Amino acid sequence: MARHPRSGGLGRVGIVGGGVIGLCTAYYLKKLGADPVLIESSTLGSGCSLGNGVWVVPSLATPLPAPGLTLKSLTWMRRRDSPLYIKPSALPMLAPWLMRFRTFCNDSDQKRGIAALAALNAVTMERYDEVAADGVSFECYESGLLMAFRESDRAAAAQKEVKLVAGARAAACRELDETELYEHEPMLRPGFRFGLFVGGGRYVRPESLTAGLASSLRASGVEIHEGVTATGFRSERDRVTAIVTSKGDLDVDAVVLAAGAHTGTLSRMAGWPIPLTAGKGYSVTIEQPTTQLRQPLYLGGVKIGLSPFNGTLRFVGTMELSGINRRMDAARIRSLRRQVSLAVDIPEASEGGRAWVGMRPIVPDSLPVIGKLPSRENAYVNTGHQMLGITLAPSSACALAGLMLEGKAGVGLEAFSARRF
Ligand SMILES: Cc1cc2nc3c(=O)[nH]c(=O)nc-3n(C[C@H](O)[C@H](O)[C@H](O)COP(=O)(O)OP(=O)(O)OC[C@H]3O[C@@H](n4cnc5c(N)ncnc54)[C@H](O)[C@@H]3O)c2cc1C
Repeated sequence: MARHPRSGGLGRVGIVGGGVIGLCTAYYLKKLGADPVLIESSTLGSGCSLGNGVWVVPSLATPLPAPGLTLKSLTWMRRRDSPLYIKPSALPMLAPWLMRFRTFCNDSDQKRGIAALAALNAVTMERYDEVAADGVSFECYESGLLMAFRESDRAAAAQKEVKLVAGARAAACRELDETELYEHEPMLRPGFRFGLFVGGGRYVRPESLTAGLASSLRASGVEIHEGVTATGFRSERDRVTAIVTSKGDLDVDAVVLAAGAHTGTLSRMAGWPIPLTAGKGYSVTIEQPTTQLRQPLYLGGVKIGLSPFNGTLRFVGTMELSGINRRMDAARIRSLRRQVSLAVDIPEASEGGRAWVGMRPIVPDSLPVIGKLPSRENAYVNTGHQMLGITLAPSSACALAGLMLEGKAGVGLEAFSARRF
C-alpha cells in the first residue's frame, strides 16, 4: 500500500476496525490534526455497530458484573430462551474469562465501574452535539426511555440501579403507576403494572451514524480501506512500524486497535493480550410496521429494548456468551420474537422483519479499554464498550485522540487502562 507524506504531530495513524468506535476515533484524530488511515476487513459499520439498540442513555451505564452474580448462577444460564445465555459447549473455553468476571461481582467493583463510566459519560451529549455541529448527519431523537414491568421486584431493582447511576440526577427517573404507564404506551399488552420513565436520553439509528461519520471522513480526505484485514504488525524495537494486512503492509507512525470483539487477537499480536469475548445480541428490524411505539421501550422482565425510527421499528435483546463468532441461533430469535409478541401489539413481531446478530466486545470487568498498550510505544486501543458502544463512542474517541495528540485525555482514563490485564 502506498505511503502518504507524513503529516505534522503524530503523523499517520492506522486504525484497525471501522465500527462506531474506529470511525469516531478516526474522526477525532483528524479533528485534532493527525492523519488517520482506517482499515476494515468488511464494510464500514457492518459489525456490532449495525443492528443494535441505539440508546444513548448515560443514566443506564453500568458494568455487567453485579453483586450477587455467582459462578454457579452464571453456569445456570444455559436455557436457550434465557435473556442471559451461556452456551454449554462453550463453557470450557469461557471458563477462565468467567472466573475473572466473577471476581468483579461485588459492591465495590460495581461502584468503581459506575463512577468510571459516569466520568466518561459526563461529556457524552456534548460530544454528540459537537459531531452534529461539525456537519455529520445522522438520525437522532431526543427522547426519554419507558421501562415496563409486570413484577414489582424487577421494577424496584431497575429503579435502584438507575438511581445508583443517576446519583445527583435521580430526578431523571420517575415512577409510573399502571394508568400512567399505559398512557405513555398504549401498545403494551395487558398485565404490566409498574413503569419507570428515564428522562434526559437520546437514541440514534446506528447505521445512519456510521454512514454519516464515514462520509464526513471521506469528505475530509481520510484514507479508508474496506475489505482489508489486519493480520499482524511489524515492529522495530518497541514501536510498530507497519500493519501487516491481507493486501500488503501499511506503514504507520502509530496504530489504534478498534476491531470490536476481535481486538483481543490483535492486541496479543502487538504483545499485550486483552481478555475480550463477545456478548452476542440479536435484533429484528421491521420496515414500515403497521403500528409504531411512541418512544423507546424497555421490557424489564425479559430485558428487551424496542426503538421506533422513522418508518422502522427495531427490537433487540439477549446476551449470549458462545465465543467469538456471528452464528445466529434460530431459537434465540424465536424467543426474542415470542417475548415481544407477548408484550406489545406489533403484528409483524412474530415473523416479519430482518433478523441480525452482533458481537458486543466485553472484558471481564466490562469497562472499556482505552489508552496505550504497555507493550509498544505507539500502539493504542479503544474497545470493550459492551452494551454502551454507541453511547460512549464519541467521548471515548475524543479522550483517546486528546491523549495521543496532546498528552491529555480531558477525562480520567485510569480505570480503562490496558495495564489492568
Ligand atoms: C443487540 C445489541 C444492542 C445494543 N444496544 C446498544 C445501545 O442501546 N446503546 C449503546 O450504546 N450500545 C448498544 N450496543 C453496543 C454497541 O453496539 C457496541 O458496543 C458497539 O457497536 C461496538 O462497536 P465497535 O466499533 O467496538 O465494534 P464493531 O462495530 O464490531 O466494529 C469492529 C469492526 O472491526 C472490524 N475488524 C475486526 N477484525 C478486523 C481486522 N483484523 N482487520 C480489520 N478490521 C477488523 C470488523 O469487521 C468490524 O466492522 C448494543 C449491541 C447489541 C449487539
